[in-house]
Amino acid sequence: MPIRLFDSLSRDHRELRPAHPDGVYRFYNCGPTVYAPAHIGNFRTFVVNDLLRRLLELEFGPDKIRHVRNLTDVDDKTIRRAREEARPLAEVTKQWTDKFHADCAALNCLPPHVEPTATGHIPEQVSMIETLMDKGNAYRAADGSVYFKVSSFDGYGALSRVKERELKVGSALAAKPQGQDADEKEDGSDFALWKAHKPEDGEVRWPGPRDAAPGRPGWHIECSAMSKKHLGDTIDLHTGGVDLLFPHHENEIAQSQCCNGTTFAHHWYHSEHLLVDGKKMSKSLGNLYTLDQLREMGHSPMAIRYALLMGHPRKQLNFTLDSLHAAESGLKTLRSIPVVFTQIGTLDPSETPSCDFNRFFTALKDDLNTPAALGELFQLRHDLLYRSQSSGRATLGDRREFGRALYALGFDLDIAAPTVVAPPQVITLAEQRWAAKAAKNWAEADRLRGAIAALGWSMLDRKDGYSLEPAKK
Ligand code: AMP
Ligand code: ZN
Repeated sequence: MPIRLFDSLSRDHRELRPAHPDGVYRFYNCGPTVYAPAHIGNFRTFVVNDLLRRLLELEFGPDKIRHVRNLTDVDDKTIRRAREEARPLAEVTKQWTDKFHADCAALNCLPPHVEPTATGHIPEQVSMIETLMDKGNAYRAADGSVYFKVSSFDGYGALSRVKERELKVGSALAAKPQGQDADEKEDGSDFALWKAHKPEDGEVRWPGPRDAAPGRPGWHIECSAMSKKHLGDTIDLHTGGVDLLFPHHENEIAQSQCCNGTTFAHHWYHSEHLLVDGKKMSKSLGNLYTLDQLREMGHSPMAIRYALLMGHPRKQLNFTLDSLHAAESGLKTLRSIPVVFTQIGTLDPSETPSCDFNRFFTALKDDLNTPAALGELFQLRHDLLYRSQSSGRATLGDRREFGRALYALGFDLDIAAPTVVAPPQVITLAEQRWAAKAAKNWAEADRLRGAIAALGWSMLDRKDGYSLEPAKK
């Protein structure tokens, strides 16, 4: 079964397949703005994209996927932060880039193949802006800034349906320009490709496009330019959080398609937000948790990754500390799977898995249905435990498929670390007790608990499974 993903442009679930003859799948993911620590809402988006990257690797092969994720290292926020701290912009953005990398590594997110920066691609952005001016899609304003002329692109609004929506409710698109750019723009919907230098920008400035003033690029053009440079004019997949759909991605399409004269991205995927008490987790609302804050509270990055994957990526997910406890116990249950592998002793050399891993991968490939995939993983864990203790056997094929499943989710279970392994007869009793509980045979379950205790072990129950620990003396 191919990977199918909801496409925000066509509003349909569509198969992912490389369009280029070289078979390399080109994947661009909008990266962070590096002026403060990313919060775990941001990381929900990056973890979901990491899952996608891993799944694409498993599907097409690791050398058949090219993953680009940019760093926004110049914009209003980064400049303001540098000014407030009286530090050079590059120093501030380096600090938060390093922090972002450390957090990504802790969350077991694979580094993208290319991680371009906006400041490292000024000539590419300038060149695109000049092409857009030459083609009549952009104009220089009185102050030397350059704006994209939205009315010059018929396809504007196709992604966000903004035209239909706005025109219905009294037309922001048709409205007169407002705000600080009011005197500069020809139309309120036009957006900046190049921003002429202002005193508050301090030292931050580059020579502009032809005829324009020195200044800095707008936010949207950076992704168009970096995507073109590192992936070509047409990419297979472009992703980001749902808040980027409009205006960021709508504007990227307009710039890229007018400049390059061809389709920008075949597929658009937007993951939903992480919420706190029903509101989007965000720096501006101040309702955020950083990875460090949660680690200081004793939560492991792996549990945080797990918790971020507990909800369907295209549904909003309410974050609670309880969800981290559930994630910790889920991981603990999963960690008992390697026990099976170490206890089989004589592994069946057959490469064929004895358990059905297809259901797990089918769930993931069906629009990244992580809750369903996690459910399947627990079922597999149960099946594997059972196989190892009954006439059937876990096989090398099981071990391989289980490894692939963990790889897809990016769960590092620390399998190599020695764990306290319950002896086979204790696991057998535990499985029998679990089955007795499921059959509501409480008397039998109690008897088996006693039998387990007599062997020096205690069985800890949860909703979705159990773990075995040496009994406390
Ligand atoms: P930023 O650093 O603000 O450019 O955001 C980086 C990424 O995080 C973007 O893809 C945003 O869409 C995403 N994002 C921001 N807030 C949240 C949230 N509360 N939940 C999920 N993703 C978010
Ligand atoms: Zn972007």
